[in-house]
Amino acid sequence: MPSPGSPSPPRRVTRGALARFAYHADSSSSKENTAPPSVTDIEDAVSDQTSATTTRKRKRTVQPAPSSTSSAIAVKTESLEVETATKPSTPRRARKPARKTIDPATNETSVAPPSDWEEMYDLVKEMRLSGPAANAAVDTMGCERLALPTASPRDQRFHTLVALMLSSQTKDTTNAVAMRRLQTELPGHGPGAAPGLTLENMLAVAPERLNELIWAVGFHNNKTRYLKQTAEILRDRWAGDIPDSIEGLVALPGVGPKMAHLCLSAAWGRTEGIGVDVHVHRITNLWGWHKTKGPEDTRLALQAWLPRDRWREINGLLVGLGQTVCLPVGRRCGDCELGLRGLCRAAERGKVLQGRKAREAKIEVGEDGDVVKKEEVETEDVVVKDIVKNEDVDEKVKLEQLDQTPGLDSGRRAKKRR
Ligand code: SF4
Repeated sequence: MPSPGSPSPPRRVTRGALARFAYHADSSSSKENTAPPSVTDIEDAVSDQTSATTTRKRKRTVQPAPSSTSSAIAVKTESLEVETATKPSTPRRARKPARKTIDPATNETSVAPPSDWEEMYDLVKEMRLSGPAANAAVDTMGCERLALPTASPRDQRFHTLVALMLSSQTKDTTNAVAMRRLQTELPGHGPGAAPGLTLENMLAVAPERLNELIWAVGFHNNKTRYLKQTAEILRDRWAGDIPDSIEGLVALPGVGPKMAHLCLSAAWGRTEGIGVDVHVHRITNLWGWHKTKGPEDTRLALQAWLPRDRWREINGLLVGLGQTVCLPVGRRCGDCELGLRGLCRAAERGKVLQGRKAREAKIEVGEDGDVVKKEEVETEDVVVKDIVKNEDVDEKVKLEQLDQTPGLDSGRRAKKRR
C-alpha cells in the first residue's frame, strides 16, 4: 500500500484500456451493443496459414471491448497451449482369463474361454509341428510312446502304466533309459521264462534288483515299492490287466489324477479328463488363462471351457513347448510366435524385440515391383535343453553303462571314469 501523500504508482496500461482510443468506424453504434464483433487480426491470419503444419493450438478468449467501443477492433488475450506431438499408440489387446458368465435369458452359468485362446493354441500347434518347438523329447520318449510295439496289448498297457509311474520328477530321456532296461533286463519269473517287462516278471523280481534297474529315475526307492504293490493289486483285483477307469487307476499306489487320465487315454483310448503335467500348469498360468495353485486345479479350470476334442492332445502339445521354447528357466521368447505376435502377456520384451529384429525379412524388389527374393535372417540356433530334474542322473547312467561294458578290465574302467 502506498503511504498517504506519496506519488501513486503508475497505472498499468493494458491493451483493453487502450481500446478506448481506437478508431470507431461507426461512431453511432449503440452503447448497449455488447456482442463481440467479428474480428480478423494479423495473428489469426498468420495462424491460419500455419495451422496446417504447426502442432501448436491456440486457445482464445476474446474479451469484448467496453460497450462504448463495441464495434471497434476487439482486443483479446491469448493463452497458448502446446500440444506435444505424440505418436498414436497401437491399441492394446484386452486379454481376459477364463471367466464365469451368466446367460440372462436362461440364467445358466457357463465358463467363457480366455481371449485369443484359439489363435494361441493353433500357433503352438504350428510351432510344435514344424517350428522351434518341434522334436521335443516328449515326442519320442513320452510315456505314451514307451510301450514295446512287439508286446501283447495287455503287456503294452502295463508298460504304459509303469512308464507313467516312473516318470514323475524324472526327465523323459532318463525315464526312457530305465524303461528300456526293464523291457530287456527284468529277469524271467521262472525257468525258461523270457526276461522283460511283464506283470509276472514284476511280481517275481526281488525289490533290490528292481531298484537297481530303475535307480536312475527320481525317488526310485518309493517307485520300487509302488511297482511291487501295484503288481499285486493288478494280479488280485484286475485279473492281471490294468484298471480301465479313473477310479481304479487312482486307487493304485503312486498314481494321481494326471497319470490316471494320461494312462486311460494312452492305454485304453478313452479320454475322460485332461492329464495336466507341470508344464501345462506353468504355461497356461503364464498366459493368464487362469490363476491356479496346482496341476489338479488347472485340470478343472481347463476342462470347464476347453473343447473336448483337445483334451487328449493339449498335454503333449504344451509339454513339448515347455521342453523346447517356453523353458522353466531361460524362456526363448524371441523364437516364440506367441511372443513375436504380442499374444503372450508373459513374454520377455527384450528377447521379443531381438527376435523380431533377427527375423526382419530381407526383401528384394524387382523392376516390376514384385518381390523377387525374401530371405529371413536367423540368429544362431540356441541349444535346447530338456528340463533338468536329476542333473546327476545322466552321469550316473553313463558310469553304470561303463561298468557293464564287456572287455574292459578294472584298470581301464578306472581310467575312463576319471
Ligand atoms: S512368449 Fe515367452 S513366455 Fe510366452 S509362451 Fe512364448 S516362450 Fe513362453
